[in-house]
Amino acid sequence: MKKTFRGGTHPPEFKLTSGVATTPLPVPELIYVPIQQHIGAPGVPVVKKKDEVTVGQPLTQSGGFVSIPAHAPVSGVVKDVIPYANPVGKEMMTVVIETKDDGGDGKGEEDPNWADATPDVIRERVKNAGIAGMGGAAFPTHVKLSPPEAKPIDTVIINGAECEPYLTSDHRLMLERAEDIVRGAMLVRKTVNAKKLFMAVEDNKPDAFESLKKAAASLDSSIQVEMLPVKYPQGAEKQLISALTGREVPPPPALPMDVGCVVQNVGSCVAIYEAVRWQKPLIERYVTITGSGVKKPTNVLAKIGTPLTYLIEAAGGYTDDAAKLIMGGPMMGNALWTDTVPVIKGTSGVLVLNKEQAIIGEEEPCIGCGRCVSVCPVFLLPTNIARLSELERLEDADELGVLECIECGSCTYICPAHRNLVQHIRFGKAAVMAAKRKATTKKEKAA
Ligand code: SF4
Ligand code: SF4
Repeated sequence: MKKTFRGGTHPPEFKLTSGVATTPLPVPELIYVPIQQHIGAPGVPVVKKKDEVTVGQPLTQSGGFVSIPAHAPVSGVVKDVIPYANPVGKEMMTVVIETKDDGGDGKGEEDPNWADATPDVIRERVKNAGIAGMGGAAFPTHVKLSPPEAKPIDTVIINGAECEPYLTSDHRLMLERAEDIVRGAMLVRKTVNAKKLFMAVEDNKPDAFESLKKAAASLDSSIQVEMLPVKYPQGAEKQLISALTGREVPPPPALPMDVGCVVQNVGSCVAIYEAVRWQKPLIERYVTITGSGVKKPTNVLAKIGTPLTYLIEAAGGYTDDAAKLIMGGPMMGNALWTDTVPVIKGTSGVLVLNKEQAIIGEEEPCIGCGRCVSVCPVFLLPTNIARLSELERLEDADELGVLECIECGSCTYICPAHRNLVQHIRFGKAAVMAAKRKATTKKEKAA
């Protein structure tokens, strides 16, 4: 087993909060729950202004198969359903709840036979609980657990790599909830009928590796806990599959299931376990608040819908020279224009950089050094694709594989000319996808 992948980079780790235990965040007076926090169709609101809601109650219903509901993270009254600032960069319909009380953790009655739940029951509970990938991708989990018969799964990989600099929420979860992660992982393996179950941790987290290993040994000795060398983006699905199985996922639209694999994040495993055992919906998550722009970096357990202002406060507030707010890590996160946006299901961290760290060098002409090509984990030509995207030569960008880009940012990080490569590529990717969707709709209408 090679345990690594081709390409990749080694950005400084800055794991400032790996030794900070997770503490529950006080519940805010107002909670903001967007109707869509996942990839796929938005949920359809089933509550209206002035409705009383109790913790765990559905606020939306699924808008299709690739869709999940959102639930009330607290008990209270619906203040309004309005367009509101969202981490994805645009306003989105959001259910605003005036909190009466935190209502507890949202667990329902325990199913004493949870460990014997059938794959269909597991899928149904996971869907009803509104679980989406908690590593940031936010793809509905029940869909990943429903591979077609023609694509049998033999391997499940549990992703504890947490390769983004600064973030430690998964690290803390592996230390604090290891047995629950393993229980969730076993449910995943059962659901997709896989033989092998790997759990993968980077070697900068030896304590998390030991913690998972101990939990796995006590619950199921067939689970393989693997230590992987630190390299970014080790936690990307395709790179993890390549490192652990030697299999290469073909270009899109191929998925991990095309090579017999399902990958789940450690946080998703805990959510799956709680959904199956207590029918608990996904209403809270571990979040890291970190960086040179907050006074006391920390890890918290936050209710979904909590405005980031509360998280910043929990981290001691902004430093005087705080300059840039990012949801997620520095490589793949989104820069935010306001701290009033809420925590959503895919929020693993909030990063604040000070003025010095936030400075991005001025873009200069490409010097043709080829570094971006050597680090690209999907073997693309970032400089060419970025240029074609910038020029809106979409067919050419598509030809060079713009849709294969996993937006890891390695090319931008390594570029000595400070080219905004991933930013241009992201634009090109979105434009190509939009053009393809338009063409498909036109074709369907004509048929
Ligand atoms: S082109 Fe895409 S996948 Fe390749 S290094 Fe750049 S961001 Fe990562
Ligand atoms: S790393 Fe930057 S300067 Fe070097 S080839 Fe790529 S875009 Fe050009």
